[in-house]
Amino acid sequence: MKNTSYKKLDPDNCAMCGMCLNHCPTYKISKNESESPRGRISIIHGLNNSMLQPSESALKHLNSCTLCLACESACPAKVDFYKMMIDARDKYFKDQNIKFKIKTNLISFFLKNYFLKGIASKIIFYMTKHKFKYLNKNIFKFMNYIQDYNNHYEIDQKRIKKNTIGIFTGCATDFFQKEVANNCINILKKSKINYEIIKNARCCGSLDYNSGKIERGIKNNKLTVKEFNKKKYISIIGYASGCSAFINKNNKDVNYQDATTFILDLLENKKINNYKITKKNICIHKPCTTKSAEINFEKLITVLKMIPGIKIFTYDDDYCCGAGAQNLIHNQKNLSKIVEPKINFINSNNIDYLLTYNIGCSLNFINEINIKNIKNVKVMHPITFLNDRIC
Ligand code: SF4
Ligand code: SF4
Repeated sequence: MKNTSYKKLDPDNCAMCGMCLNHCPTYKISKNESESPRGRISIIHGLNNSMLQPSESALKHLNSCTLCLACESACPAKVDFYKMMIDARDKYFKDQNIKFKIKTNLISFFLKNYFLKGIASKIIFYMTKHKFKYLNKNIFKFMNYIQDYNNHYEIDQKRIKKNTIGIFTGCATDFFQKEVANNCINILKKSKINYEIIKNARCCGSLDYNSGKIERGIKNNKLTVKEFNKKKYISIIGYASGCSAFINKNNKDVNYQDATTFILDLLENKKINNYKITKKNICIHKPCTTKSAEINFEKLITVLKMIPGIKIFTYDDDYCCGAGAQNLIHNQKNLSKIVEPKINFINSNNIDYLLTYNIGCSLNFINEINIKNIKNVKVMHPITFLNDRIC
């Protein structure tokens, strides 16, 4: 993976026109210039030219950026905001406070460690079965990120043959969303397609790369791509849109496709269109990574409309839900404010299912729904929802 695939860093490209401001979720909730793309560019410029010290108060504005990149799409000067922000996070990581460094490193270590994740997933599975989750608000706060929980993959080794699809389970999804891999497997089985879960492909690299650890992110990406290339898969699919966006951006030579896109094509082409009647209100959230992950949002709506009885809602605004770039770990307060209108929308439209294909967004919604004690709303990956409804 080469860093040079991005445009050259030049903060002076920014014409300070402010056209990005109203697209920025953190500016929307704060109306603070330092929490806007333009403000962040000025801060980075100041830091790089030693006009500003990398103090906690300066760095907090870089940390709060969700990397949704709505600013990049709106910018007439085509400022390469992603490259600028990632470089700054990497350069000034050493100046972050100790709590930030510990949290970032611990999460990264945990999510790539199969042994620790195995133990933790057994504990969570046990707790979900024994109603401990209802004590969540006071004692088990991490249970606020859990709804239904599955702790195993349905691996059928006999099925590993040639013409096999490799399933990449990611690092966070491997912990929180094993059921999505099982749902992919079920749909592949029904379509008579061989599959295999790719072992030892721990992380696409985006977790570290986006949080200020460029080198470690690149290293993890290379290790994962090496695992992808160990066997001749006809295609590799991953079901976290954040991973798909990062892999697509950095590994053009890998035969990779986002699992949502793959499954939607399969359901359309194989004409699997016998769905259970589902008289439910569903809301589809469009993660910021949709474009880079190459997920056809319109096709998702088209396929979902094939389910009889379903009523589909989408959000009027395209604002990020706030979960991106480790804000879930470092910036819970901001996050609650950013996602609030979307939660209100769920409430006022009696939504039964909230569908999203990004793990960070999914955890953000589950957490807010649990904290606000909103009953009967399930947050699901669209692949799970579709799989559950196929007759
Ligand atoms: S990436 Fe998103 S959160 Fe960050 S400055 Fe741009 S619009 Fe704001
Ligand atoms: S839209 Fe582009 S040029 Fe204008 S202020 Fe934002 S980043 Fe700068």
